[in-house]
Amino acid sequence: MDEFDLIRRYFTPANRGERVVRGPGDDAALVAPTPGRQLVATTDTLVEDRHFPADLGPADIGWRALAANLSDLAAMGAEPRWCLLALTLPAADEHWLAGFSAGFFELAGDTNIQLIGGDINQGPLSITVQALGEVEPGQALRRGSASPGDRIRVGGVPGEAAAGLQLWWRGERSGPLVERFRRPRPRMELGRALRGRATACIDISDGLLADLAHLLAPGQGARVEVANLPVSGALEDWPEAERLGLQCGGGDDYLLLFTEPDGQELSDGCYDLGPVTADGGIQLVDAGGHELPSVDPGWKHFH
Ligand code: ADP
Ligand code: MG
Repeated sequence: MDEFDLIRRYFTPANRGERVVRGPGDDAALVAPTPGRQLVATTDTLVEDRHFPADLGPADIGWRALAANLSDLAAMGAEPRWCLLALTLPAADEHWLAGFSAGFFELAGDTNIQLIGGDINQGPLSITVQALGEVEPGQALRRGSASPGDRIRVGGVPGEAAAGLQLWWRGERSGPLVERFRRPRPRMELGRALRGRATACIDISDGLLADLAHLLAPGQGARVEVANLPVSGALEDWPEAERLGLQCGGGDDYLLLFTEPDGQELSDGCYDLGPVTADGGIQLVDAGGHELPSVDPGWKHFH
């Protein structure tokens, strides 16, 4: 099986898709963007043992490679449209390719993004996806555009994917937390809903506090009320200090972290964490308003 058989077999979408003039098979793909919309472009690479454990199944790897990119589109409030896939594979293992392709196309179908091209090379396993989306001019969500006093909000329970990865390392292969790590759901719906509502937005890929620092404008700070962090049933059993480390420092959740004007109603499934402040630094405070010196050592582990 050569490179071209492989593309035909595993990476040719069932139908051509919307606004695709030419998909895989030519020198480059040709698309017809919606007139008047802005194009939103992102790319992310996944490297074995760095972004996912070597024993993660191929379907989960395919899913996650696309999810990381879709999550960036969600964080911009964009509609997903087209994507490209550059694969570096140690060998043309058909079992692996069939699984990878199934996971990739499952999420692509769910989110209505069309694969229009890519590249295949031989070498150590690495996957790069590039995703393109569209947004009305002026509607894209951004970083660094919050004002002091805006409320910081998170669209789900942070820390579940990091907890799932810990369980994976301990040999667990199923359950709700492991599932969160294997199959993160990019928050396309919330991204859409936040257009015209959120004052700034980012997706959590590196960890809540790390990404909060990227969300804020230079010089701004934040007061995170740790007691406001939502805890799911699946996270309840973790020792509190460890859980806090996972929730503040654990990556891979692909939730949206955003700001809204004070007083704006909280959307379903979202949680208020505290205000943006005018002065630098992210402060963690407990229910009594006392500043926490730092978060548990577990935290560093994820950096
Ligand atoms: P070129 O040598 O001109 O760069 P390639 O031989 O790399 O072209 O690819 C041939 C065609 O197959 C191109 O249209 C390319 O976009 C598509 N393609 C290559 N790899 C993939 C892939 N992993 N998924 C989808 N399409 C692919
Ligand atoms: Mg090429």
